[in-house]
Amino acid sequence: MNSLFDLTGRIALVTGSSRGIGNALARALADAGATVVLNGLSPERLKAAEAAMAADYAPGRVHSCAFDVTDDAAAASGIAWVEENVGPLEILVNNAGIQHRVPMLELDVKDWERVISTDLTSAFLVGREAARHMIPRGRGKVINICSVQTDLARPTIAPYIAAKGGLRNLTRAMTAEWAASGLQINGIAPGYIHTEMTQNLVDDAEFNSWILGRTPANRWGTVQDLAGPAVWLASSGSDFVNGQTIFIDGGMTVVV
Ligand code: NAP
Repeated sequence: MNSLFDLTGRIALVTGSSRGIGNALARALADAGATVVLNGLSPERLKAAEAAMAADYAPGRVHSCAFDVTDDAAAASGIAWVEENVGPLEILVNNAGIQHRVPMLELDVKDWERVISTDLTSAFLVGREAARHMIPRGRGKVINICSVQTDLARPTIAPYIAAKGGLRNLTRAMTAEWAASGLQINGIAPGYIHTEMTQNLVDDAEFNSWILGRTPANRWGTVQDLAGPAVWLASSGSDFVNGQTIFIDGGMTVVV
């Protein structure tokens, strides 16, 4: 592998990586040489994901730590566990996220707050804790998983749109405060990616044909499409890339 993109010996935590995009990103970082720590809410699902992944890599390359990314104290002890049991955290991917679809006039404030705290506040809590360890070492990569809804709105997903838009600006705020200490903080904004979270949309013939027509590449994205950009932003190949959000969406956000 080109040494610019080699992650050998680097320790990465990917939140929400028991399945879906997070799991694929964890595998992409491990394929580039990183030692990875998986995270999720459900300990059973996380242990199963760890066992499945560990079978594909050398012993000691795959770990897991279940904690709720919306809980300040849990995020702090999760990061402390990684530092003590795996080693110095160099790469954090803030990926955990949820969706909640309901028209805004019927949206309960509890659901608004649940989405905002999972999709936005979590990146502040886990990111702040990781940065407290990275800054004294003078190096670290934080990748915040945004969305095309960072830039574009649609009906029925108001809290998700607000959270993902906020996450892009949080990426800039982290850059403003931490870049001088040697950290690079960037965002990846995936387009419509076929995962468990979007299976109902793929199965909806009308929505599916709207997506294909609306995407210049004329297809859904795959988790594999996100691997290269994630490895790049986690590697030394992006050491002067600061505060950017990279859209990986088959061109959706550049056309009307
Ligand atoms: P997913 O398949 O539903 O997986 C979500 C993951 O997040 C699971 O591992 C889940 O853990 C974890 N999680 C949820 N709440 C958590 C919490 N409070 N604490 C810790 N972990 C938590 O989701 P996905 O489709 O892969 O999406 C992943 C990210 O990509 C999200 O930020 C999403 O907004 C973004 N994204 C997705 C798409 C898409 O098309 N799928 C497009 C753009 C952006 P458990 O398994 O324990 O529940």
